[in-house]
Amino acid sequence: MSDQEPGFSTLAIHAGARPDPTTGARATPIYQTTSFVFDDVDHAASLFALQTFGNIYTRITNPTSSVLEERVAALEGGPAALAVASGHAAQVLVFHCLMQPGEEFIASNKLYGGSINQFNHAFKNFDWRVKWADPDDIDSFRRALSDKTKAIFIESIANPGGVITDIEAVAAIAKSANVPLIVDNTLASPYLIRPFAHGADIVVHSATKFLGGHGNSIAGVIVDGGSFNWAGDKRYPMLSAPRPEYGGMILSETFGNFAFAMACRVLGLRDIGPAISPFNSFLVLTGIETLSLRMQRHSDNALRVAQHLKEHEAVAWVSYAGLPGDKYHDLARKYCPKGAGGVMTFGVTGGYDSGVSLVRNLKLFSHLANIGDTRSLVIHPASTTHRQLTDAQKIAAGAGPEVVRLSIGLEDAADLIADLDEALTAG
Ligand SMILES: *Cc1c(COP(=O)(O)O)cnc(C)c1O
Repeated sequence: MSDQEPGFSTLAIHAGARPDPTTGARATPIYQTTSFVFDDVDHAASLFALQTFGNIYTRITNPTSSVLEERVAALEGGPAALAVASGHAAQVLVFHCLMQPGEEFIASNKLYGGSINQFNHAFKNFDWRVKWADPDDIDSFRRALSDKTKAIFIESIANPGGVITDIEAVAAIAKSANVPLIVDNTLASPYLIRPFAHGADIVVHSATKFLGGHGNSIAGVIVDGGSFNWAGDKRYPMLSAPRPEYGGMILSETFGNFAFAMACRVLGLRDIGPAISPFNSFLVLTGIETLSLRMQRHSDNALRVAQHLKEHEAVAWVSYAGLPGDKYHDLARKYCPKGAGGVMTFGVTGGYDSGVSLVRNLKLFSHLANIGDTRSLVIHPASTTHRQLTDAQKIAAGAGPEVVRLSIGLEDAADLIADLDEALTAG
């Protein structure tokens, strides 16, 4: 290897991987095993005491998943990562390490519908309290701060609204309150946006979407930015207090700039349990090898489709930050100059019924609740992903009755445009 710092595409193929030491296998092998034999009794003891890094049990570490973790950490530019069963599991583990019952976090109200549900309902049982803020009114994050605030959570590119969050402005508010900023980077992927460069402390992914990229595996990743100083901070006892789980070890002292990733692994994943299957780690790793090519094509195709829809008479509006003139275009030029990703929303002139009929008439687009597939996907959020929300919450989340969400795939843009034209006219 030369002294040159490897570029993004090189890291996407090589980071974390080396030929298998016993067989020479070049693709990362799938270590489909639950557990690993110890060298001897002392080795076992030191693994359990966290004095040696190694594999004990696949719920906590697995060599295939370790390659995925190193790779996503390298792409995001953080010191360490943890792969877990799903994006939602990643969020649970992150908050489990930060929150005590009765405490608060602030979240953007422009989020994936499932995250809005998770924060409003599932987290209630833990007595973790969400306060909503609006990324279109950055000061609303400051107004939501209290002495119980433990974190701020945003999406870089928000699902489904086509919103680009001003990460640096929110990061400044998080810094002023000395709480970590968590960025869900699922829609952008590190190819388009690297949140740590803009002040994020923790990044989460639903690797189910663009990282995996082929619509075949549910997976999640937590990336530790290594930037937050937990040491001695009594508000975060999982990181700063002696842990009874490990004989009084203080994780921030022992693990320094990757203490958060370790806490998520040895306190969160170990005890709560949402482990990723090594097979899914392998599939996501394979997907990541083409991340640069795919994200560029997703973005280029999406821009062409957005330009076309904007001129269409059956379309009332298009929300895609890549479009010149879009409300978020200036933020897109700042945060994701290579492209604004594959997801957009638009409004059909006929409202709810036209949205439903469009979905029924599309042939090339698949009607389903996912994004970030090679295939183009469509959904009508008001009747599906966001139907549990009240009408006011739907509109606040960018999922009003006329809204249709597209996840533009890697097909020929001309074919996608033809399919949309036919379905819009048929309605
Ligand atoms: C899908 C998604 C999630 C949840 O991820 P799962 O892998 O489905 O659990 C979280 N955030 C965003 C932005 C998503 O699109």
